[in-house]
Amino acid sequence: MTLQREILELKLEDQFSALIRAKYDKSIEECSDGELYYALLQLTKAMMDATEPNEGPKKIYYISAEFLIGKLLSNNLINLGIYDKLADIFEKHGKSLSAIEEYEPEPSLGNGGLGRLAACFLDSIATLGLPGDGIGLNYHFGLFKQVFKDHKQCTEKNEWIEPESWLKKTDTVFEIQFGDRKVNSRLYDLDVAGYKSGINQLHLFDIETVDESIVGSGSIDFDKEEIEKNLTLFLYPDDSDEAGNLLRIYQQYFMVSSGAQFILKELREQKNDLRHMYDHATIQINDTHPTLIIPELIRILVEEKAFTMDEAIEVVSKTCAYTNHTILAEALEKWPLAYLEKVVPQLVPYIKELDRRVRDRFDDESVYIIDKDNRVHMAHIDIHYGFSVNGVAAIHTEILKNTELHQFYRIYPEKFNNKTNGITFRRWLISCNRPLTDLITDRIGMGFARDADELKKLLDFKNDTGFLDALDEIKHRNKLALANFLKEHENVQVDPDSIFDIQIKRLHEYKRQQMNALYIIHKYLEIKGGKKPVRPITFIFGAKAAPAYVIAQDIIHLLLCLSELVNNDPDVNEHMKVVMVENYNVTYAEKLIPACDISEQISLASKEASGTGNMKFMLNGAVTLGTSDGANVEIHELVGDDNIYIFGRKSEEVIDHYAKGDYVSKDFYDRSDVIKEAVDFIISKPLLAIGDKENLTRLYQELLEKDWFMTLLDLEEYIKVKDQALADYEDRDSWKRKMLVNIAMAGFFSSDRTIAEYNRDIWKL
Ligand SMILES: *Cc1c(COP(=O)(O)O)cnc(C)c1O
Repeated sequence: MTLQREILELKLEDQFSALIRAKYDKSIEECSDGELYYALLQLTKAMMDATEPNEGPKKIYYISAEFLIGKLLSNNLINLGIYDKLADIFEKHGKSLSAIEEYEPEPSLGNGGLGRLAACFLDSIATLGLPGDGIGLNYHFGLFKQVFKDHKQCTEKNEWIEPESWLKKTDTVFEIQFGDRKVNSRLYDLDVAGYKSGINQLHLFDIETVDESIVGSGSIDFDKEEIEKNLTLFLYPDDSDEAGNLLRIYQQYFMVSSGAQFILKELREQKNDLRHMYDHATIQINDTHPTLIIPELIRILVEEKAFTMDEAIEVVSKTCAYTNHTILAEALEKWPLAYLEKVVPQLVPYIKELDRRVRDRFDDESVYIIDKDNRVHMAHIDIHYGFSVNGVAAIHTEILKNTELHQFYRIYPEKFNNKTNGITFRRWLISCNRPLTDLITDRIGMGFARDADELKKLLDFKNDTGFLDALDEIKHRNKLALANFLKEHENVQVDPDSIFDIQIKRLHEYKRQQMNALYIIHKYLEIKGGKKPVRPITFIFGAKAAPAYVIAQDIIHLLLCLSELVNNDPDVNEHMKVVMVENYNVTYAEKLIPACDISEQISLASKEASGTGNMKFMLNGAVTLGTSDGANVEIHELVGDDNIYIFGRKSEEVIDHYAKGDYVSKDFYDRSDVIKEAVDFIISKPLLAIGDKENLTRLYQELLEKDWFMTLLDLEEYIKVKDQALADYEDRDSWKRKMLVNIAMAGFFSSDRTIAEYNRDIWKL
């Protein structure tokens, strides 16, 4: 710690008072919460500036299209070790730090789990004191802001960049070449503070000529061809037409070319020998979006650094490592060669050369980079020309090796490895659940913040009724806080004594929100028929659907219609409520997760690579209701049968159904009255009176005629096991013990553990 930083800390209150005196000519008492936020932003940035960077002979560059970092103030204060001190100072002056935090806009730099993982990783890399930076893009409007109108999702731009923000504009500008067109890429940096450790950077590149004004208010429409103006406006622009596809390639190349130039610049500044680049840098490629960094680096080394093609390929292959996040075909990117010709013609000869070398060595078409339809398989570039391929949970990596990427595993068994995902406990416990943190700290100290395995010490309290009651009391307090928040923000009254059953994640058929909806219909009809639950249930959803994903929009529509129907039906609404929160994001997750009783993780087995939401819920004392998929499998192993609810067909069986094409949803519908009744209700009079016939009918037909993600396959068992979980909740003592075991065993899912493994096996910093 530098002297300057020590002085800053010692005189925190004086420093802060002086700062706001200079900034606003006011005392703390006289400032609004908003003013205090901007003053805190300034103070925190100064403190991070005064903290030593993490340094070492080798650095990891984590390149990702998304960094779903969430609000930064609270996390930065915790990691700088001054959260509690500041909270006390504000309290003394009649202010509340959590009220001040509300003023921070959430950066919209990500979409879902993959982006959130990247954010947790940056926190852990910095916390472990490893030199490691993120590389990504500075999207101005993010994915989109979700609003509901007429029970449908509408999309608006999600603005977050204010004149004063965490972003630090730098003088670093790179030229990026798109064919005969040149644009400038300007670097903005965000400090990443490790927990009581050094600082790393998130490098976000932005096109200099970006023009926010080409997007109207209340919409996300813009001219997709005006690259100079639009390139960094949105994450994942609609790719249902050619212009949208080209824009995504423009973005990807802009990101990797900026990143490659930046990495080479750092290597040069440290006077490192590029011929041993891999001794000084590892580039971790997060999913396939940054894949073009491989041919781009090779191109630069050959054209500007006098490497031969052989040398360049060898050096780059020893530098790059790839993380696979999904087995869904739609997400394994394949770009038509013609599109690449249009956007980055200078890369095409290199991609063809990489493909030629593969063809020379193997005569299996399925491992070629360019297929017979002239599409470039991005993952294939990563696997052939990277030194590591990892999956993100044990079962996922096994599926990659044995099925999805089997032909590659046979060629390169040594490249494949597993790194089960993790989450940072600083954000997902210490910051989002203070009451639970205080209780844990009171019993086992604060050591778990750095060594998550220490949470296991909580197992000693398994029969301590005082502790178990305190846990339950905290859960209840968090549910009350959420109920108040939902009243204010969603205009719905939920009962804090009801069971909170929560499913929050991107909307996708494989995650099967539609299965949960069918359970809700089933329960609604049961209650209408006179069978009332022992205790009311509150079903909570949060999810954004990709604008071009029609069925996902239909599922949102169904959930919103169900919410309208159930919450306004006097026969039912004392027994159940359905809430779909608007614009689910990290900030919302931080409010929902501490209040959850039952964590819904019900993906079709084999389809959820890992999940990280499941880990956040577990850490906060929710019990998982889930399939044997992703990290649920590892949660199950850790907590044992008594502390989780597992149901549904296993991945082998599901994969087998796909291989044989023998799943017929209509058969399940015909065979079961319960299924039939629930599915038919989607197009029943009461729902059609609320909703849109086109959407509801399309969803109904999809379930009956396709049901690509096999909802009906697991529905009956889901109903049975979920009813069991709800019944077990009434055995309060045993449920409290389940909560405790889940919290105590969550240590394995700290992203500190994940990052230590990446470093041990892949990065070797
Ligand atoms: C953790 C998180 C996710 C990932 O959730 P999964 O259930 O793993 O898909 C998505 N969005 C946000 C905002 C998150 O915090």
